[in-house]
Amino acid sequence: MASIRLAEVSKIYPDRTAAVSDLDLDIGEGEFLVLVGPSGCGKTTALRMIAGLEEVSSGNLIIGDRVVNRVPARDRDVAMVFQSYALYPHLSVRDNIGFGLQLRKVAKSEIRQRVEEAASTLGLTEHLDRRPRNLSGGQRQRVAMGRAIVRNPHAFLMDEPLSNLDAKLRVQMRAEISRIQRDLGVTTVYVTHDQVEAMTLGDRVAVLKKGVLQQAAPPQELYDRPANLFVAGFIGSPSMNLLQARLEADGAGARLALGGQALAVPGTLLAERPRLRDYIGRAIAVGIRPEDMEDADLVDTPDGAVLSSTTDLVEALGSELLLHFRLDASPVVTDDTRELARDAGADQLGTASRESEIIARCSPRSRTK
Ligand code: ATP
Repeated sequence: MASIRLAEVSKIYPDRTAAVSDLDLDIGEGEFLVLVGPSGCGKTTALRMIAGLEEVSSGNLIIGDRVVNRVPARDRDVAMVFQSYALYPHLSVRDNIGFGLQLRKVAKSEIRQRVEEAASTLGLTEHLDRRPRNLSGGQRQRVAMGRAIVRNPHAFLMDEPLSNLDAKLRVQMRAEISRIQRDLGVTTVYVTHDQVEAMTLGDRVAVLKKGVLQQAAPPQELYDRPANLFVAGFIGSPSMNLLQARLEADGAGARLALGGQALAVPGTLLAERPRLRDYIGRAIAVGIRPEDMEDADLVDTPDGAVLSSTTDLVEALGSELLLHFRLDASPVVTDDTRELARDAGADQLGTASRESEIIARCSPRSRTK
């Protein structure tokens, strides 16, 4: 295994599309790094540059202690797992997994041993003599992983490997990938547009937008301390509520004016974040996670922590309910609100309407968890 370093790496395609701009990333030995972002943000391009399938326009790409900008893909010793699996239909599972080793003229007995070890890790032993068409989607995905594993590469590069699987299998394979990566300890770069996948798999998650890195951090830090509004809105499901507000002086303290309402800013928050005072008198964006709002009837209500609104819609997701309402014309979502939803006359679970009192918790999240 090896570390991977991208030093101000850019990719400009011949048609002048700047797919990746000055990307700086240090991926440690054995680390699982997830590249995430909306469609077209440059994730695949970044991965393909690491793989050697796309040339770097500027900057340096370093694997281990070697600058590999000019090193062809086959000599980089990285293994790529594609969304499409890219299996050979006419070859058995055994030969699909061993194909790369055969190309490298590894001895037959060694190929046999390595393929069988990989198959055992992946639960494919019984299927070694089948053809890909006789396998389920999840099993094909494992064969593609097997092909990467037998090579003992410096790094795994995975491009949306689960996107062709149904939701249930995706959750299962997600856990498998996590387990295998941990067991093998191989440096892994994983591309996805699915933030749940990113949050559950990554030791660190790098968020890209239009080819530009927004933040690279452990998942919980990304969630608790997003570096900007894009990351705040992208990470988390349902998304963080982002509202326009104004910070106003309130005696020695401060309050947030949200539409016609006000939310007191706790003194402890002002003490912990003294720079907040610089924003008094200014328009600011306020982010409130859905789970940080509660029914004011059900909890002790601190002074000045209550917002009132009318519920527009209740959505039942089984384990939780999402309650939609508006604050100053902005749509807001809160969850974990079974009691509130019941109060809202949502026995029929659908559109419900009532004046709801919501507490928005105005406390900073802890820095690390
Ligand atoms: P998706 O999630 O949709 O796969 P992505 O984040 O992986 O997207 P890329 O495929 O890396 O994004 O594309 C980044 C940008 O580069 C996009 O604007 C895309 O249209 C453009 N692009 C990709 N490949 C080429 C190419 N060969 N020539 C020109 N532009 C390209």
